[in-house]
Amino acid sequence: ETKDAMNCIQKLEALPEDISQLLITTGAAGDLLGKNVFVVGGFVRDLLLEKKNLDIDLVIEGDGILFAEKLNKTLGGKLLSHSEFGTATIILDNDTTLDIVSARREYYEYPAALPKVEKSSLWNDLFRRDFTINCMAIQINSNGFGKLIDYFGGLEDVQNRKIRVLHNMSFIEDPTRIFRAIRFASRLNFEIDRETNNFIIEAIKGNMLSKVTDDRIREEFIHIIEDENISMSISLMNSLNIFKAMHSSLMITDDTIHKLSNIDSSAKEFSRFSNGSIDKRELIITQLLHNIPINKLSEVICKFINYRIIMTNVEMALQHKENVYNILMKEDVDKLTLHTILSQHSLENLIFYYNDCHNSYIKHYIMYYMLNLKNVKISITGKDLLDLNIKPGPIYKRILDETLKAKVLGKIYDKTDEIRYAVELYEKIKGEDDV
Ligand code: ATP
Repeated sequence: ETKDAMNCIQKLEALPEDISQLLITTGAAGDLLGKNVFVVGGFVRDLLLEKKNLDIDLVIEGDGILFAEKLNKTLGGKLLSHSEFGTATIILDNDTTLDIVSARREYYEYPAALPKVEKSSLWNDLFRRDFTINCMAIQINSNGFGKLIDYFGGLEDVQNRKIRVLHNMSFIEDPTRIFRAIRFASRLNFEIDRETNNFIIEAIKGNMLSKVTDDRIREEFIHIIEDENISMSISLMNSLNIFKAMHSSLMITDDTIHKLSNIDSSAKEFSRFSNGSIDKRELIITQLLHNIPINKLSEVICKFINYRIIMTNVEMALQHKENVYNILMKEDVDKLTLHTILSQHSLENLIFYYNDCHNSYIKHYIMYYMLNLKNVKISITGKDLLDLNIKPGPIYKRILDETLKAKVLGKIYDKTDEIRYAVELYEKIKGEDDV
């Protein structure tokens, strides 16, 4: 234990100055109240892994809200207290967040064994958590600063890179931990311990996922695809039969996994066109569902996401996929055709097609469209047509559409050209109508 305590002091001191100072200040606030304070959970895990983490979870053996108020007098952050739970959050200017919970001593329950109870209040808090690597605490009071509390073998599992639950009922108690196990394994590049993996398999066989609401599943899935190493997560989910459990039509193949692992680099190729706003969730869900039968599409999509725009775009991309590929697979597609079929798609759809297809013509045309055609727009509007004394009606749409086509084909270049073209077109149409 002395050796561990030494280790953590060094790691705490190696943190950025403001964070390590913050922990000292927080510990001192505990000293003043005569209470033990610990930093716990993900922060400890990431400290041992030397990964950056700005979310500091604290456990205080005493009144959490009182502690948070005292501490925030020094810190001057934004304090949010949740009196019904006895928890509080302090948000600091530099994005660091302190989450404070109370692990109370329960005098009335264990009147005879106070020293033990003091220890077990922290133990109880840690025992409620998911994996050994997330169940460690480090004391930060001045007396004991850096002491690692590791009741469940978390340090060893960090060293051996294992995801391990604390007991065999863990996934029955909370099946969403299945998704968390996958997410942490992928993010940290850890292995799910064999016994833990068997518990997951049992829970899935026992249909535990059906006890979780669709909302919670979607939420956990989104966490997974917003985290790192998505292709590993999808591959794990697949080998654990989770997709089958979510919908019987879902078929994830090696091709799916391979394409998912290319998504980041495809998105990067398009990032220069996008000022940073590519929705990766949309992209990943589309790629994941690339071979779902069209008639099953809408009932499968809603298992994964519940945002209308994304649902519509995913459906659009997959419904038109075959048609788009068939048209673009040829050698000489003209600009107008290209513009007509690609301009109705979101940027994410185009990246999806680019990533999903094997054919180099298709890839070439999508890039050509992005570089040369996507931003072709006309400057004239109905207002200009009105100024030209053209009588409003269906003819407006026809003129504007035709003018856009002329611009796509490179027949006209600027607004003066557009107006001239619109006038000529109007005269022509009028002539036709007069005949
Ligand atoms: P990150 O925030 O970086 O994804 P984290 O470990 O902080 O990782 P959170 O989801 O913020 O993860 O959860 C904070 C802590 O709460 C975890 O470290 C874990 O100990 C505990 N926890 C979260 N969800 C569960 C759960 N479903 N079951 C048990 N414990 C959980």
